[in-house]
Amino acid sequence: MRRLYLQIYLTIIAILLIVFIAIGALWRIAAASRFDHAIEAATEFADNELPPVSAPRLEVRAAVERLHRRLSADVALYASDDTLIAGAGRPIPAWRRDRAGGWVPGRGGPSWALALDDGRTLVIRVAPGPPHRGVWLIAVLTALAAAVAVGAYPMVRRLTRRLERLKSGVEQLGEGELGARVRIEGRDEVAALAESFNRAAARIEELIKSHKMLLANCSHELRTPLARINMALALVGDAIEPARREQLKKDVAELDQLIDEILLASRLDAIRTPERVEEVELLGLAAEEAARYDASVEGETALTRGDPSLLRRMIRNLLENARRYGGETAPDVRVGKLSPRQAWIEVRDRGPGIAEPEREKIFEPFHRLPGSAETGRGTGLGLALVRQIARNHGGDAVCLAADGGGSRFRVTLPVV
Ligand code: ADP
Repeated sequence: MRRLYLQIYLTIIAILLIVFIAIGALWRIAAASRFDHAIEAATEFADNELPPVSAPRLEVRAAVERLHRRLSADVALYASDDTLIAGAGRPIPAWRRDRAGGWVPGRGGPSWALALDDGRTLVIRVAPGPPHRGVWLIAVLTALAAAVAVGAYPMVRRLTRRLERLKSGVEQLGEGELGARVRIEGRDEVAALAESFNRAAARIEELIKSHKMLLANCSHELRTPLARINMALALVGDAIEPARREQLKKDVAELDQLIDEILLASRLDAIRTPERVEEVELLGLAAEEAARYDASVEGETALTRGDPSLLRRMIRNLLENARRYGGETAPDVRVGKLSPRQAWIEVRDRGPGIAEPEREKIFEPFHRLPGSAETGRGTGLGLALVRQIARNHGGDAVCLAADGGGSRFRVTLPVV
């Protein structure tokens, strides 16, 4: 496996190495050209400006001082007996006549000795390091930053691209697309992560599939004995107490409804979009259902595309809840449009309402508010189905705050 940290580390080291080699080369070139210039200027000075041996010492010193300033170099002029005639700048140490002419190494950098025809020797030493250190520092830092930016970009981009693909795979899986997998590129930690993700996603898909199958098969299989119990109940007739028989019938009906809802929920989960699609007018559909519950209906017409029996079931579940939990007053149904592309249906009742922290949770399967389970009515799947049907049709279902008390459920659906 090619370790990711090693790739990053080696890329940075390689960039730094290249930058330092380039700077070293530049430094040498700059220093060499500076020395060349200084030697040339010193030779010209010796030929044209340096006063003769016989000139007064003061005049000679002034000339040496001029050369020092012009070149920003240390300068020394020695007599033929190696005594110092004049010097400017830092003293040049360990001057030895036997090495006169050419380069003389020494502490503080090498010097250049020029043997003059009159027996004197002119020695110059260019200060180590090129001039304008500030400029150099800025140039070096800029070069370093630019090299890191240019050199690291392809590596970082390649890495983040793969991470982005991995992220979108994780998001797809999170949204319920169980078939989501990512491409495995390279042989590093990211590739290992992608491999683990694919393995985990495959396992999750397998588990969920087998759970769904189990649920659907169980529900289906429960139907047969339930039908037999129903039949037996009809046959026993007056042999059991009428009140007892009614209770048994109710229990069987409730069980039948639960099985029906579980089967529908797992079918909706599997299909994700409605199997039967036709144009449905929502105000008309709402009015038909509302009539069964004595609910008032108002609003505007809105045409959507979907499965009419599922949409009817969705409105019916909301009205059924309003009847169960919404108090004595009949509920209202309203239909409107949020935008030219989105319609809404609202079912509102005047019951005790739903506290804000519960408004999202009640859409979870089998989540019931305290007190509701004791009533023995409902299966706890009604609102989960409402949301599933709405989402299957490209919309959603929410519970909103209702001014004036009661609860207010809103389903949004796309308009055709
Ligand atoms: P149930 O079969 O219990 O009615 P639902 O999924 O339809 O299951 O509703 C979940 C819970 O939300 C209910 O048990 C009830 O506590 C609460 N609920 C639903 N509709 C209303 C409503 N209109 N007013 C107050 N509470 C409601």
